[in-house]
Amino acid sequence: MIGIQTVDILQHKRDGIELSAEEIEAFVQGYTLGRIPDYQASALAMAVVLRGMTTEETTALTTAMLRSGVTMSWPSPPGPLIDKHSTGGVGDKTSLVAAPIAAACGLFIPMIAGRGLGHTGGTLDKMGAIPGLRLRMSLDEVQQTVRRGGLAIVGPTEEIAPADRRLFALRDVTATVDSVPLIAASILSKKLAEGIDGLVLDVKFGDGAFMGDIHSAHSLAQTMIAVARGLGCRAHAVLTDMSQPLGFAVGNSLEVAESIETLKGRGPRDVESLSLELAARMIWMGGVTESLELARVRARSALTSGAALQRFQSVIDAQGGDPRVCDDLRRLPQASQQLVIHAPREGRLLSIACRQIGRTAMRLGAGRRVIEDRIDPGAGVVLHKKAGDLVMEGEPLLSAYGHDEGLLADCRDALEAAVEIAREGPALQPLIRGVVGDDDAFAEGT
Ligand code: URA
Repeated sequence: MIGIQTVDILQHKRDGIELSAEEIEAFVQGYTLGRIPDYQASALAMAVVLRGMTTEETTALTTAMLRSGVTMSWPSPPGPLIDKHSTGGVGDKTSLVAAPIAAACGLFIPMIAGRGLGHTGGTLDKMGAIPGLRLRMSLDEVQQTVRRGGLAIVGPTEEIAPADRRLFALRDVTATVDSVPLIAASILSKKLAEGIDGLVLDVKFGDGAFMGDIHSAHSLAQTMIAVARGLGCRAHAVLTDMSQPLGFAVGNSLEVAESIETLKGRGPRDVESLSLELAARMIWMGGVTESLELARVRARSALTSGAALQRFQSVIDAQGGDPRVCDDLRRLPQASQQLVIHAPREGRLLSIACRQIGRTAMRLGAGRRVIEDRIDPGAGVVLHKKAGDLVMEGEPLLSAYGHDEGLLADCRDALEAAVEIAREGPALQPLIRGVVGDDDAFAEGT
């Protein structure tokens, strides 16, 4: 593609003219091959943020980014290939619970997961807290592992959607992350590269998520479902509230420990119920049961029987990690320092500033501010109370973990400001606030 055509594409998007699939394909191909420079890709990303994209354009962008790399092919599939994806939230460890449950019920899940982004954690960083566990596997190894044990949780290889890798790094520094078509194409180009038949989406909204309100979450869910289905992958979504962290633990090692406890039936109620619902929706989508209700029964029995925990343990083993962490949580990396925040007075916990907790955990080492930052797997924050709980004066509200006493002390103000105590608690809302895409093929909603 020569320069003038690139400028024409930019001009079209700038002026709100719909781009053709050929224009989008040419642009993504030129960018992947290094013929289109970063400054023109930044200009296109900004024009998309401002002008949006139609479903057809978003589908063409997803296809072009998917085709910039390889797609796993499953000539003789071992069974239903179904994955889940969460758009990211503070304390969201449901992949570590839902995926082993679904695998224990007969699904095959080649989960290519992502690193943490901003204040939200990433499944890959959480799995990386397990001593010895390999996150980089060739696509052949991923396929073998999935065929044998039903599940692998790994990072994207260089061959998966390279156009997205380049574009995402650029979006991060050009204020072009917040865009429904760009997010949808970015996520789906990586997920569809798994060669899956279906995808259950958990689209989060609220203070601790990227989507601020339920309307933008709904719009992202609708776009992702339309694009995925257009490309031959079944999809539906749940919309979930992220106004407080999910569970109690925020931080990689802490979240692995909480996930293992959940797989033992001793986890926080919100983590357990959302993980079971996501797993049930995967099981139903994979056609293992005839109804969502039966899938819920299957999912719960895989949890209570210990089959899901066993599955998680064998995934850890298959990926070279230490499976003994499931029997002894002290084998997970631990922080050397702790700071406890106590309740200044009696009352009800009105709110927990979710983003603030996520940012503080990140500052302590649980996430990255820039891509070069090193993760401290033991760092993070543990809540002792959730919104609506009664608290007594002097009771512990939060514990922060890290290795740097000075840094922990610096975080005290932010943590104290993150919790609000009042005379009355909040009106508690259900965690799952909507389901999108439960149409004919999936007629039962929540
Ligand atoms: N996660 C991604 O992979 N891409 C985005 O654009 C946003 C979240």
